[in-house]
Amino acid sequence: MTNKSPVWHPFTQHGLEVPIPMVSHAEGCAIYTEDDRRIIDGISSWWVTTHGHCNPRIMAAIADQAQKLDQIIFAGWTHEPAERLAARLSALVPDPLHYAFFSDSGSTAVEVALKMALGHWVNRGEKRHRIVVMEHSYHGDTIGTMSVGERGVFNQAYEELLFDVATIPFPAAGKEQETLDALDAECAKGDVAALIVEPLLLGAGGMLMYPPHVLTAMAEVCRAADVLLIADEVMTGWGRTGTLFACEQAGVVPDIMCLSKGITGGAIPLAVTMATPRIFDAHYSKDAAKQFFHSSSYTANPIACAAANANLEIWEDEPVAERIATLGSRQTARLNHLSKLPGIADARQIGTIIAVDVEAKEDAGYLSQVGPRLKASLAQKDVLLRPLGNTVYVMPPYCTDQDDLGLLYDAIEAAIGDALKA
Ligand SMILES: *Cc1c(COP(=O)(O)O)cnc(C)c1O
Repeated sequence: MTNKSPVWHPFTQHGLEVPIPMVSHAEGCAIYTEDDRRIIDGISSWWVTTHGHCNPRIMAAIADQAQKLDQIIFAGWTHEPAERLAARLSALVPDPLHYAFFSDSGSTAVEVALKMALGHWVNRGEKRHRIVVMEHSYHGDTIGTMSVGERGVFNQAYEELLFDVATIPFPAAGKEQETLDALDAECAKGDVAALIVEPLLLGAGGMLMYPPHVLTAMAEVCRAADVLLIADEVMTGWGRTGTLFACEQAGVVPDIMCLSKGITGGAIPLAVTMATPRIFDAHYSKDAAKQFFHSSSYTANPIACAAANANLEIWEDEPVAERIATLGSRQTARLNHLSKLPGIADARQIGTIIAVDVEAKEDAGYLSQVGPRLKASLAQKDVLLRPLGNTVYVMPPYCTDQDDLGLLYDAIEAAIGDALKA
């Protein structure tokens, strides 16, 4: 035990004694360490920061709300920031996802979605309890969300506690029909409550992308079998894939939609699970036992809601779509160059996100050698990047300019060179 800090970090093997930099402040696409390094945030601080760090409008909204109302129980009470946010979200997401259930993280937004879907069937008196999931999915780190996610080294220790799900294959290019057939076969069994998917992009599973027409077709299979569709847009939401929500590109309206990460511009924790009248109405009754039994202490925290309202105002009156398009095309140019380098496979992009696989000679899993080498090399450079095994990806805040993007890609090209020659 050489670690002097009592802090136990997430997804960190403290035994490897990798230095943990102390961050003092951040602005735009850069974070600054105590020893004055300026570091480009190439993954939006784990996929949350959309407009940039310490966005003045969001910071002002937080400061302003902090003078008025810090926190209030949300069962039986309400407040203006939450009411305003719910009304705006309801108008913004695909129609008719009218109802907004607030929580505080992506994982809880997904837990809420699963409970809503199951509760909907129980309250309707129908025996449907199975959840269908897609291979390589990630939906969070709680027991429920791990159950609907990919099983692997991350959750092996908890395997016994995870509930059974039906898994359909990832719709890899040329194998889309297999996914649809598998979904169809599961739905035909008649006991499926819902399908949960990450629309168009599987994040933690390795930045795997599939085309909108597959999502459209999956939604049609669900609709035909009266199976609920849960879209986990925790990461894909708020412009990441080029549109405000990824579902839009497929013309799909899920029954339940999970949002978090960029909902406050990435400034402060908040999540929401949006539901259609069908889901809400299944819980609406004179019978108290049919209410939706879920809450977190900080549900709809007023300061977090104020930050989210400021985020929505930025979307309304700043050229965010234009910024996203510019960032996307600048990345396309760099990706084209990157994809031609030796050892690079499967260069891919959706909206503001690019990913490449660095070819490992041995197995390409998370614990393969190329991953650690890439990580070690990147740690020496002034960039914040966190490869998923041998997959290097970039997901910068929308304010990242050409020069800072250049620094990021230069660092990636150098790190890949290091990793492959080591
Ligand atoms: C990050 C993520 C989650 C979990 O969100 P947390 O806020 O980390 O709990 C769930 N689903 C997807 C698709 C995610 O990317």
